[in-house]
Amino acid sequence: MTDLQASTAPSLSYELYPPRNEAAAGSLVETIAALEATAPDYVSVTYNGSPARRRASVELIGHLIEHTRLRPLAHLTCVGESRASLDRLVNHLVALGVRGVLALRGDLPPGHDAVGPGELPFARYLVELIREVEARRSASLAAGRLAIGVAAYPTRHPESPSFQHDVEVLLAKERAGANFAITQIFFDAAEYAHLVAAARAAGVRIPIVPGIMPVNSVRRLTRLAELAGLAPDAALLARLERASTDAERRRIGIDHAAALAHEAFVAGAPGLHLYTFNDAVDSVAVVDQLGLTGAGTADAAGADFGDANALAS
Ligand code: FAD
Repeated sequence: MTDLQASTAPSLSYELYPPRNEAAAGSLVETIAALEATAPDYVSVTYNGSPARRRASVELIGHLIEHTRLRPLAHLTCVGESRASLDRLVNHLVALGVRGVLALRGDLPPGHDAVGPGELPFARYLVELIREVEARRSASLAAGRLAIGVAAYPTRHPESPSFQHDVEVLLAKERAGANFAITQIFFDAAEYAHLVAAARAAGVRIPIVPGIMPVNSVRRLTRLAELAGLAPDAALLARLERASTDAERRRIGIDHAAALAHEAFVAGAPGLHLYTFNDAVDSVAVVDQLGLTGAGTADAAGADFGDANALAS
């Protein structure tokens, strides 16, 4: 472990997305309860798609605040929003009780090679905007600063000219005010370790939390890899293809994710962020296998985003 990471227990967090229909909303309540039982430090909520999908993200955050003891990390994207709408949205989220935001550019709509007119071009500018809103609201933010997370890429971002360029972009996001980073999915812990080493060499000081997903089907693996612009892991793909039952495929996904997370911890990871795909079973199994316990719910009521800030300290 490096000095940056030695003093605190590993953080534990999960990603959720808003439900697409009534049935999914019902099972999401069960998913949330199962995740809450592991006391995560925070739960992040994705943000994209149509205006209705975006409203559903804000509603899910409202649900987490009102009905659970979980701390939400609200994803926000430059894509699909004007500067003014993002300003309003950040204010609204803060008024709801949100104290953590993941500042993203968002994926470009198919056929586009840049954000739309009036949209902030890169995540760095969203980080700056959030810090501006925070400065305006400082009197009402007695509990402390907002925790701002950003994305980091163990393998080159699909639009980026090089891996090193991505590292410079991460440094720019830190300088704009980001406190921590969460990685895109990866299939080889050496790629995570390489990113952390390159980032530290470039002067990045913020914690870089590995983002890992237990993958329990060939379809999900290929779709996920496509979305992230990666080749699917060949060994994992072969094991999933050979498996004959869902239970076997789940076990493969859990074991693979737990092994990857273990290797990332050995490489000095300050925490673990699990992409749950709104399915608690596999993610909780990974957490159990690793023997992790979160620190999230003991004093969550009305608390600020203390653990993400602790990550950054
Ligand atoms: P940026 O950091 O702005 O980088 C985008 C591209 O621009 C990169 O290629 C970068 O190299 C380049 N770039 C940045 N700054 C400059 C510059 N000054 N000059 C030239 N090039 C530059 N997407 C969603 O839509 N909703 C979500 O909820 C969501 N959640 C995510 C959660 C995590 C943990 C991660 C890792 C990704 C998530 N994404 C989400 C996907 C993300 O939006 C995409 O990967 C997107 O394409 C890039 O976002 P970014 O924040 O990394 O952008």
